[in-house]
Amino acid sequence: MPARSASPALRLPSIDSLLRHPACLPLTERYGRDALLASLRQLLDDLREPVLSSQLDAVEITPEVLAGRAGERLDLQHRSQVRRVFNLTGTVLHTNLGRALLPDEAIEAVQRAARYPLNLEFDLQSGKRGDRDDLIESLIRELTGAEAVTVVNNNAAAVLLTLNSLGARKEGIISRGELIEIGGAFRIPDIMARAGVKLHEVGTTNRTHARDYEAAIGPRSGLLMRVHASNYAIEGFTARVPTAELAELAHKHGLPLLEDLGSGSLLDLTRWGLPAEPTVRQALIDGADIVTFSGDKLLGGPQAGLIVGRKDLIAKIKKNPLKRALRVDKMTLAALEAVLSLYRNPDQLAERLPSLRLLTRPQAHILAQAERLQPSLAKALGDGWSVSAVAALGMIGSGSQPVARLPSAALCLRPLVSKRLRGRHLLGLEAAFRQLAIPVLGRIDDDALWLDLRQLDDEAAWRAQLDQLQVPG
Ligand SMILES: *Cc1c(COP(=O)(O)O)cnc(C)c1O
Repeated sequence: MPARSASPALRLPSIDSLLRHPACLPLTERYGRDALLASLRQLLDDLREPVLSSQLDAVEITPEVLAGRAGERLDLQHRSQVRRVFNLTGTVLHTNLGRALLPDEAIEAVQRAARYPLNLEFDLQSGKRGDRDDLIESLIRELTGAEAVTVVNNNAAAVLLTLNSLGARKEGIISRGELIEIGGAFRIPDIMARAGVKLHEVGTTNRTHARDYEAAIGPRSGLLMRVHASNYAIEGFTARVPTAELAELAHKHGLPLLEDLGSGSLLDLTRWGLPAEPTVRQALIDGADIVTFSGDKLLGGPQAGLIVGRKDLIAKIKKNPLKRALRVDKMTLAALEAVLSLYRNPDQLAERLPSLRLLTRPQAHILAQAERLQPSLAKALGDGWSVSAVAALGMIGSGSQPVARLPSAALCLRPLVSKRLRGRHLLGLEAAFRQLAIPVLGRIDDDALWLDLRQLDDEAAWRAQLDQLQVPG
């Protein structure tokens, strides 16, 4: 046996020699010398103990091996935190997963806006300073019938700004049945308070009548508000004043009616077989003075809050200093214009607007896709799981039609283990899907993991990573 002249740990390559080694050169170029140095130091530190205790043979730890490991660590550390995922949850407009997907036209518009200077606030006709809302005003007027428009960062901002502009230091009258909370701590009473509007709630949770509003109107009233019950439904013994009647009442007393539509569709969705959702145009026809809605819910565009309605009120809203704090950026405006333009041709909308295309995918297509993918998934999961292609129910999401279900199809994965172990296996598999290069997100329900395929557009990318799945055993 050859004599050991140095301790094994010392026979690990030195940092200096590693940094100069050809195997490390590409890493220096990519991540910089400092990052590579830190990574190699840590790697050597981690190896010293196993080498000293002879669990590892220092001879096997060549510079190439070390460079490879350092590279893996650096790749992981520098990986983008903003990750693409597969949304197989069954909820199409998923707030936590980025809501609407943009059409190519909007993506190109965003790229142009990002890459080149543009007339964001510059009137090319007069050569004078312009207003960014002007870029989309005529389009929104055409599509909604509104007199005027202003756009802010999201619908929560739209509601806050409108309330503050039209009702500060006055009372906002609203039905108890509409004092809603939307996910992520958006509560109408809190927003009203922050907007400086004093909440005057009328009626009861399930029934509110015109006479309830009328009795509340007084010298301190500033506005009447109506909120679309986005994420729940009140059913049974209910009463709600129609918007037209509420508008008439408001106007009789010289007050504006503000309607927060939430999703606010621009077109009647029933023409595509989807559940009816109030349209912005109809709310304005019914007499709402201001209507607010989201850009990235049913509209299918970028995150934005649209405020449309009476010209004099919009002018007042635009003068509010808060508008400056809540305004949208150039890329949002570019995307919004491109998406709105698609609405000019409703006949092609379901093909060109991804959210509508996904929402209207026929169940038979989705089921056929599930059947197509079933064998390869069954193979990847092995004996411990049953994999079946089945009909399933999804939903629109983002507070649109909370009780409506979209007939869809899914891969249903059931662990073939005793009832006691099922939960652990399901959580393990769910986590394994999350660890994939493009994480796959499904939903656990009824002792199974469901992968709803309505939104699986990129079948090739999905299949390509299946063999990376670390099935828990
Ligand atoms: C979703 C929603 C909001 C908030 O809109 P964001 O665009 O998410 O800020 C406000 N009001 C209603 C009724 C909603 O459905």
